[in-house]
Amino acid sequence: MPEFRAPVGTRDVLPPESARWAALVGAFERRARLAGYGLVVSPMFEDVGVFERVGESTEIVRKEMYDFRDKGDRHVALRPEGTASVVRAFVQHHPVTPFKAWYVAPSFRYERPQAGRYRQHHQVGLEAIGSADPDLDVEVVALSWGFCQDLGLGSVELLLNSLGDAACRPRYLAELRRYLEARRSVLSEQSRATLEANPLRVLDSKRPDDRPVIDAAPRMLDSLCDECTEHFDRVRAGLDRIGVPYEIDARLVRGLDYYTRTTFELASGALEAAQNAVGGGGRYDGLVAELGGSPTPAIGFAMGIERLLLACDAEGALAAPEATAQVWVIDTTGGEEATVLTTELRAVGVSADRSFDGRSMKAQMKAADRSGAQLALIVGEEERAAGAVSVRSLRGQPVRGHADQERVPRVVVVEHVLRLLA
Ligand code: AMP
Repeated sequence: MPEFRAPVGTRDVLPPESARWAALVGAFERRARLAGYGLVVSPMFEDVGVFERVGESTEIVRKEMYDFRDKGDRHVALRPEGTASVVRAFVQHHPVTPFKAWYVAPSFRYERPQAGRYRQHHQVGLEAIGSADPDLDVEVVALSWGFCQDLGLGSVELLLNSLGDAACRPRYLAELRRYLEARRSVLSEQSRATLEANPLRVLDSKRPDDRPVIDAAPRMLDSLCDECTEHFDRVRAGLDRIGVPYEIDARLVRGLDYYTRTTFELASGALEAAQNAVGGGGRYDGLVAELGGSPTPAIGFAMGIERLLLACDAEGALAAPEATAQVWVIDTTGGEEATVLTTELRAVGVSADRSFDGRSMKAQMKAADRSGAQLALIVGEEERAAGAVSVRSLRGQPVRGHADQERVPRVVVVEHVLRLLA
């Protein structure tokens, strides 16, 4: 038999780790819901054109894209990120604006797998489509930061920049290109190649040899037009007013051309620099039109679940919620009574579990102890004959008075358990 394993660059998430995963998604959903964002579920694959974009990004997106021809010869791709799908859905269904949506979904990128970098990773994210108001930027940025606080990620830093717009960025790009071209010979080989495609991306380089040139490079922030300056000032003032701390990072650029104005990243101080981004986002006022809609401003962000959990590990945050049963039912009379009792307990909201396969009393007691449950309900032949159930404390505390075990009439046992657990 072949030995099957999860594909390279993917991983299985099993209990108990998956309980943290669920807690993280629950925290995100709560934040999003409180701010009026509704869940959007969109397909995991799209026409490849949805993900193909102009300019420099095309090559990068292409290289990492999980694309293929399906049996109907349609060229499709597994989604590399969430925004394009939500925007495609927006253009297709034209919902009322502002359209506020959140999602949790897998993303696929054909990257070289390494720590914190997978071929299938998962994102929580949200998009707000239909307003250019800087107050919306404040809402979205603050939400991403607040979510990190909810998780207990004290070392996450919010980095903020503005990328300008179609009025001021081209001028800046020309200036930046001139500057970098003049220093071409001292740039790393990779950055020389990047420079051809998009000078902005060179600012993203983490290579030490590029550092001096990048540090002295002209900054987009110094070239913003009046409208973009005013927008950025409003965003900053809004964040200040609600007490969201941030750092201006003039080197912060996003890989995709459709990003305009506000751009931000959440970086964990507890992770290695190469993989310290737990999330990022920004305005993408150009994307809706690029996907065939009428020009519509929008802003959003995405955060990597695996990356967030790594940051939680590093900070000792988001402890796994205990998934133990409250009550363990032991039945040595054949198992049917355990079926009925667990059903009755679960129906009133008590988590209850049991053994299977007609195990011995001793084996079932052992399973009950191992389970971490507070109480065991025991049904043996004696109890059954007496129309009763024995209730036993498993954590050393007496059930009632001094005894750690008592016998209770079967008809009242569920109420009795409720009272003991209250
Ligand atoms: P991006 O769309 O590239 O801004 O990615 C958003 C977030 O997803 C990043 O900040 C990371 O936390 C996470 N992420 C991106 N690529 C990967 C990957 N290959 N493996 C794990 N997490 C990733």
